[in-house]
Amino acid sequence: MPLVPMRILLDHAAEHDYGVGAFNVNNMEQIQAIMMAAVETNSPVIVQASRGARSYSNDNYLRHLMIAAAELNPQIPIVMHQDHGNSPATCFSAIEQGFTSVMMDGSLEEDGKTPASYEYNVDVTQQVVKKAHALGVTVEAELGCLGGIEDGHGAGLSGEEALAHLTDPDEAGEFVAATDCDALAVAIGTSHGAYKFKKKPTGDVLKMGVIEKIHEKLPNCHLVMHGSSSVPKELIDIINEYGGEMPETYGVPVEQIQRGIKHGVRKINVDTDNRLAITGAIRKVFSEHPDAFDPRKYLKPAREAMAEVVKARMIAFGQAGWADKIEIHTLEDMARRYHG
Ligand SMILES: [Zn+2]
Repeated sequence: MPLVPMRILLDHAAEHDYGVGAFNVNNMEQIQAIMMAAVETNSPVIVQASRGARSYSNDNYLRHLMIAAAELNPQIPIVMHQDHGNSPATCFSAIEQGFTSVMMDGSLEEDGKTPASYEYNVDVTQQVVKKAHALGVTVEAELGCLGGIEDGHGAGLSGEEALAHLTDPDEAGEFVAATDCDALAVAIGTSHGAYKFKKKPTGDVLKMGVIEKIHEKLPNCHLVMHGSSSVPKELIDIINEYGGEMPETYGVPVEQIQRGIKHGVRKINVDTDNRLAITGAIRKVFSEHPDAFDPRKYLKPAREAMAEVVKARMIAFGQAGWADKIEIHTLEDMARRYHG
């Protein structure tokens, strides 16, 4: 099966009340881990690459690895998504490289750091929607700003500062009407990276109520939760047990994500948890086998550890069991649907 537009998966998820995890990749092992978990659970897949990932792995390598994933797993619908495109040009280059979905993050200016004006955000998002939809490619937009920085992207807001940049439900209604984006990333107090909350988040810092209000205003818009790793203590403990030094930290509890899924959340971005799983597995091998020097000796357990996390999320988000039940439409079908 060729790579499919993300809109198909999100529409199916909305119809059947589940969410789809979007997992970041930089290399072959991470793509393989996601596909292992998807095959085992019969889950549709969203693989995403940030700008940092595209420059780290090189677009050509990434494109061919994704084509390999699709060839080897014809029963699984797979989306290739640009995470946090910082400009229309970044989104257009992703589309040229075969990405079937792009995020135009106009909540920040092109530097990926400075919070942008509403007008700027509408303008750049409209530009991307126009060109992407003509080709059947899905567009995710963002309104409001998350905390933290990941891969050099983000306003660097602290958790408290991020609370001043939550998505406004009224503005969200206007924004989606003005841009015709397929999915909207919302800011509800989450941050990118491992250090989201200093204690288990309560409703004071993680504003799930904002999602409920946005969903009431926009019942047909697919919502996206960024920075939604759960940062499980077990994964931090493994890293620290084998020589790591990670301070105590908390992520977004899976049960809060499940609450979001009941209120329109259809895409959940998870990166940190996979990074933690990989790092813990590699540290364990190095600690127990200081003589090891064959990369397969540590990359294989790392890949398996990531696959376990991805599998657990696929089951928790409800996407497990659906891969072979989704009716597939090509990019050309989608282009006709947008303009029909
Ligand atoms: Zn993000």
